[in-house]
Amino acid sequence: MRCAIVGSGLAALAAYATLRHAGVPPDEIAVFGTHADPTEVWRRRAGSIRQERMRSESDGHLAAPSFPGLALRDGSLRALGQTLTNRYRPPVALFLAHAAEVRARSGWDESFVERRVRHVRAVAGGFELDGDGPFPHVLLATGHPGLARVDGAVHAYEPHEYAPQVAVIGAGMAAATEWRNARAAGAEVVSIRRRPPLRRPLNVPRAYFSKRRLDAFHRLPPRRRTALLRELAQPSYPPGREWDADVRLVDEPPPGFQLIAATGFRKGFREDMLLADLVDAHGLETHDRFLSLAPDSTVPALTDDRRTLSVAGVAGQWAFPAADTIAGAKYAARAFTRRACRTR
Ligand SMILES: Cc1cc2nc3c(=O)[nH]c(=O)nc-3n(C[C@H](O)[C@H](O)[C@H](O)COP(=O)(O)OP(=O)(O)OC[C@H]3O[C@@H](n4cnc5c(N)ncnc54)[C@H](O)[C@@H]3O)c2cc1C
Repeated sequence: MRCAIVGSGLAALAAYATLRHAGVPPDEIAVFGTHADPTEVWRRRAGSIRQERMRSESDGHLAAPSFPGLALRDGSLRALGQTLTNRYRPPVALFLAHAAEVRARSGWDESFVERRVRHVRAVAGGFELDGDGPFPHVLLATGHPGLARVDGAVHAYEPHEYAPQVAVIGAGMAAATEWRNARAAGAEVVSIRRRPPLRRPLNVPRAYFSKRRLDAFHRLPPRRRTALLRELAQPSYPPGREWDADVRLVDEPPPGFQLIAATGFRKGFREDMLLADLVDAHGLETHDRFLSLAPDSTVPALTDDRRTLSVAGVAGQWAFPAADTIAGAKYAARAFTRRACRTR
């Protein structure tokens, strides 16, 4: 077995599809994950906030080649027009239907093994996963380590209905979506937030998806890189009138209000048992809450000409600030595939 992917979410499927597109057969890839359906975890979260359109654009899909994008699949002239000016937001249903196709035609199910991996260890010839292996090339795509909960509140990413009076904690995309939802359900809505909302179309400024800005980012010394990543992690939601919600700001939830925590996820590699164990076992370099990675999303101390340890998803931010997006999943997937195929 040449490659292993640990994790079974969107980033794992993007990596799997990319390996398959490069000609790696299913019997040379093992996917160890908790969910056979790679969209299940994401779908539940997006469904809970009743997300109808993606925040990402036409190329925000999980197939290996960017073209054709979702705008073309959408088929309407309006979609094609909007995509020319970066204004097309694919419907969630279209994204999910396409992801199901990618799953089916890539052979994902042939490679999937239902198992939570606890320990990754570098050994001669690659990596052992809980003692199995060695696998020469391993991609860790374990996603977010859990929801950031608030006592007494339902988390926005868990199924819920709306009471007549709702207090939403947070100032990001989930909070903005929840203001709209609760208002549409006829509720009185108040907002509790630590800072004024930041408005931007994508969750990280578009420049950070370009090679030029990424090169500059990779040259930053660790302290500045850490500070920048913390700044970029601030919650945001898109500009535009459709998102302008007239909500009353309060410091505390008023008595009797339903409390919804649109507070996102717990943060940092320490919160992920597998990553914390790996860092401790191999004394890996970290900065603040970030795992230090090479620009191609590999762990430098454990990667050489014959073996690869890569990180995709939110834990890959040291290499790609927007790692927790579909574009970020593909960035890690492509670099991993290049390495895995170089030594075939
Ligand atoms: C509501 C919402 C809307 C979003 N909208 C967009 C959007 O429009 N566009 C965009 O680009 N991005 C969007 N994102 C961001 C991003 O695409 C998601 O966060 C995406 O789910 C990340 O995929 P992942 O595979 O890293 O993590 P996940 O989808 O969380 O998957 C990780 C999987 O790995 C499993 N796992 C964890 N640890 C182990 C282990 N040790 N062993 C085995 N399996 C393990 C988990 O159980 C889970 O199944 C959105 C995110 C959310 C929450």
